[in-house]
Amino acid sequence: MAIRSLCAAFPDEYFRNVDAKRGYPEEFVDALIKAGWLSAMIPEEYGGSGLGLGAASVIMEEINRCGGNSGAVHGQMYNMGTLLRNGSAEQKARYLPPIARGELRIQSMAVTEPTAGTDTTKIKTTATRRGDRYVVNGQKVWISRVQHSDLMILLARTTPLAEVAKKSEGMSIFIVDVKEAMSGGMSVRPIPNMVNHETNELFFDNLEIPAENLIGEEGRGFRYILDGLNAERTLIAAECIGDGYWFIERASAYATERRVFDRPIGQNQGVQFPIAECYIEVEAANLMRFKAAALFDANAPCGAEANMAKYLAAKASWEAANVCLQTHGGFGFACEYDIERKFRETRLYQVAPISTNMIFSYVAEHLLGMPRSF
Ligand SMILES: Cc1cc2nc3c(=O)[nH]c(=O)nc-3n(C[C@H](O)[C@H](O)[C@H](O)COP(=O)(O)OP(=O)(O)OC[C@H]3O[C@@H](n4cnc5c(N)ncnc54)[C@H](O)[C@@H]3O)c2cc1C
Repeated sequence: MAIRSLCAAFPDEYFRNVDAKRGYPEEFVDALIKAGWLSAMIPEEYGGSGLGLGAASVIMEEINRCGGNSGAVHGQMYNMGTLLRNGSAEQKARYLPPIARGELRIQSMAVTEPTAGTDTTKIKTTATRRGDRYVVNGQKVWISRVQHSDLMILLARTTPLAEVAKKSEGMSIFIVDVKEAMSGGMSVRPIPNMVNHETNELFFDNLEIPAENLIGEEGRGFRYILDGLNAERTLIAAECIGDGYWFIERASAYATERRVFDRPIGQNQGVQFPIAECYIEVEAANLMRFKAAALFDANAPCGAEANMAKYLAAKASWEAANVCLQTHGGFGFACEYDIERKFRETRLYQVAPISTNMIFSYVAEHLLGMPRSF
């Protein structure tokens, strides 16, 4: 497969060095863009490949399965979903061709805020219409890839919470030109973190955005952002599946070759059974990932499947990470084996982009009809 051969040019050592330097995999991302992988979802009329979310998810899976981390680039795929579904013809004509040519990156989406947390409808960042501009004030946290993106999708309140009939109303999404914003009212403060993930606090002080950068109708932004969030959950499920296979391949190879007590450690059922169990769970999660992607691509409701795919895949990859580390004994802790790096990377997906409890809560309420818990 072509993506696999591109990834093969970036061996473990490359990603290990980027991680050690807390750097960004520039050369890898450039190669992905040059080969057209990050414009996979852009329709052919705008210069992309016109593929769906299922195909995009395979690209992300392969990156993780080869030892890399799609966290450096996955924003472009899920933001694309939001722009394609909800952007105007003018916005698509303006942004999609340069994105497809690799001249612009749309890698960031700014939703989370320090005081609102998971309770998105309580966001305090406001965008107030003044003539042909919106003026943005507020703060965001954990906003990824801002320093490696040209465009960002921003969620802000355009009508105060107290004035809307439903709390999910009155929010809007905008395309923000990151470089212009950084010199005109948006400041960026990087957050050092456990994973080598470029993520930031953002502060908005009277940032002006042209009104034409509003995506869709004012006040309906929460609904639009859900398209992006469902795409994001499905893509991250695929990344976790890629991680899961990587851990299982490493664990089973090591268990077969490592000899202790004069036999391969993998001959012990206490070592081989957990690896087999992880394989079963990754395979099962994979089915739900393809179900979610197929529904998304058919424009059908896919919130339940996207959430469940993300839950199953993140759980399977985290279990595989633990088993892989355990199988390697002390060597699992050595950076040169890459397991500790991938272990940290896959742990993130228990929390972001949606934490496990929120998925349980969604399923309990929306699929099982139980009372809303918050
Ligand atoms: C590395 C990284 C990158 C990120 N990138 C982005 C990004 O690019 N853009 C963006 O917008 N956001 C981003 N995020 C934010 C991420 O989506 C949030 O961290 C995540 O949604 C959880 O929100 P929170 O951290 O505010 O946790 P909180 O909402 O404070 O929750 C903390 C814990 O309490 C639990 N909890 C809270 N309320 C309940 C309840 N009612 N019932 C049961 N349990 C509950 C949660 O499940 C969680 O475990 C990123 C986060 C990280 C760590």
